[in-house]
Amino acid sequence: VFEEIKSKEDKLNALITLMEEKAKTRAKEIDKEVFEGRWRDKPLLGVPVILKDNICVKGYPTSCGSKMLEKWVSPYDASIVTYLEEAGAILIGKSNMDEFAMGSSTEHSAFGPTSNPWDLERVPGGSSGGSAASVAAGYAPMAFGSDTGGSIRQPAAFCGVHGMKPTYGLVSRYGLVAFSSSLDQIGPFTRTVGDMALALDVIAKHDPKDSTCWTGSRPSYYESIAKGADIKGMRVGIVRDFMEEGLDAELAHAVEQGLDILVENGAVPVDLNLGDIKECALPCYYIIAPAEASSNLARYDGVRYGLREEAYSLLEQYIKTRGKGFGDEVKRRIMIGTFVLSSGYYDAYYLRGLKVRKYVCDKFKEAFSKVDIIVMPSTPTPPFKKGELVNDPIQMYLSDIFTLPVNLAGLPGMSVWMGQNKAGLPKSIQIIAPKWHESRILRAAMKIE
Ligand code: GLN
Repeated sequence: VFEEIKSKEDKLNALITLMEEKAKTRAKEIDKEVFEGRWRDKPLLGVPVILKDNICVKGYPTSCGSKMLEKWVSPYDASIVTYLEEAGAILIGKSNMDEFAMGSSTEHSAFGPTSNPWDLERVPGGSSGGSAASVAAGYAPMAFGSDTGGSIRQPAAFCGVHGMKPTYGLVSRYGLVAFSSSLDQIGPFTRTVGDMALALDVIAKHDPKDSTCWTGSRPSYYESIAKGADIKGMRVGIVRDFMEEGLDAELAHAVEQGLDILVENGAVPVDLNLGDIKECALPCYYIIAPAEASSNLARYDGVRYGLREEAYSLLEQYIKTRGKGFGDEVKRRIMIGTFVLSSGYYDAYYLRGLKVRKYVCDKFKEAFSKVDIIVMPSTPTPPFKKGELVNDPIQMYLSDIFTLPVNLAGLPGMSVWMGQNKAGLPKSIQIIAPKWHESRILRAAMKIE
C-alpha cells in the first residue's frame, strides 16, 4: 500500500502525514488477534483508513493544513480514532485539507494543493479534498473528513466517491479541531454504499466526551441495507426551483435520473418548495461560521499551541504569530467573524443570522412532513480547474450552495456518485433526510449506485 501511495503522491499531494510505523505495528497486532481467534465483532478488521488532518491521532501532528499547527503533536486520540481501532481498522495517513477546513478546493492548504485524481489540472473540492482524493485514487477504501458547510459532500462529488455528513450530533466531535462548533460533523468517504453503512456503524456512537453528541441509540446501518433495502412507497421530494440557473445541465439531469431510478423501485415523487433557502443559506452561513471560527481560533495565540514567534511584548507575539501562522482565507474569516460579533453589529448580523438559520430549519421541517427524503444536486458545477476560483472568494463560496443549508438545519446528507459526465468527470447527486434517518438515505443510495 505504502509503495503505491508514495508513487502517486508526487502528483496528487493528498496526504500530509503517512503513518507507516503505526500501521505496521497495528497490522502485526491484528495478525496476532486473528491467530488467537479475537477477530469477531471487528467489522473493519485490517481495513486501511485515512483521516483528515484536523482529527487528532495521539503522537502524530494534526496540522489542520496550517503553518500554525505544523509542528503540533496531538496528545490524545479523537474518539473516532478509538472506535475505528477497536473495529480493527489500520490508520495509514492524514490527509490534506484547506486550512482549518475553510475552503472548497484544498488550494488553501499551507502544504500545497491536492490534485483531482480524475484530472490532475482540476481541484478535488474541499475542504476534505485530500480524503476524497485518497479514496478515489485507491489509497484506502475508506477515509474520514469533516463537513461544516459541505466539506465532505462537495469533494466526494468532485472525486467520484460517496460522502456522508451525518446528522449533527450523531458522531462525536471529540478530537476534531473546531471550526464552527454548531455546524461541524465528522463523516466517511467510501466507494460503496455498503462500506458507508459499515463506517457509520463504527463511528456513530454516543460519546460522553462531546456534550453535543446525541444520547439516543443508533440503528445498525448495515442491517438496514443488508436485506435488499426496500424503498416501496418512500416519498422522494425534488425541488425544481433549485434546478434552474446556475446549475450545470448534466448535473441537473443526474438529479432527474436519480429520481427516476427511485421511482422505478417503488418510490413516490413529490414536487417540493423550499422557499428561498438557497438564496439565504449562504449569507447566513457566512455570518454564523466565521463568528464561531473567530472565537474557536482565538486559542492560537503563540502561547498554547504550535507556532510561536518571538517578540518583546505579548501583543506583539500575538500579532506576529497569527500574522505568520494563518493564511489569507483564515484571516478573512476571523475578520468577518470578529466584525459580526462586535458590539453594535451583533444584532444586525449575528442575531439576524440565527433567525435565518431558524427559518431554514423550519422550511426543511415543513418539507419533511410531506416527504421522506429529498434529492438535489451536490454541487452546481463539475470539478473546476486549479487556480480558477482561488482569488474569487464569493464564487468559491457558491460551490457549497446546495450543501450549506443541510448543515444549518443539522440534517444528514449524502453525496452519491452516479458515474461520469460527457467530459469524463464525475457526477453525483445529494440525498437528504430528516435528523437521525441516515438509514433512509442509505437505502435510497443503494438503488442509485
Ligand atoms: N467551503 C465551506 C467553507 O469554506 C465549507 C467548509 C467546510 O465544510 N468545512 O466554509
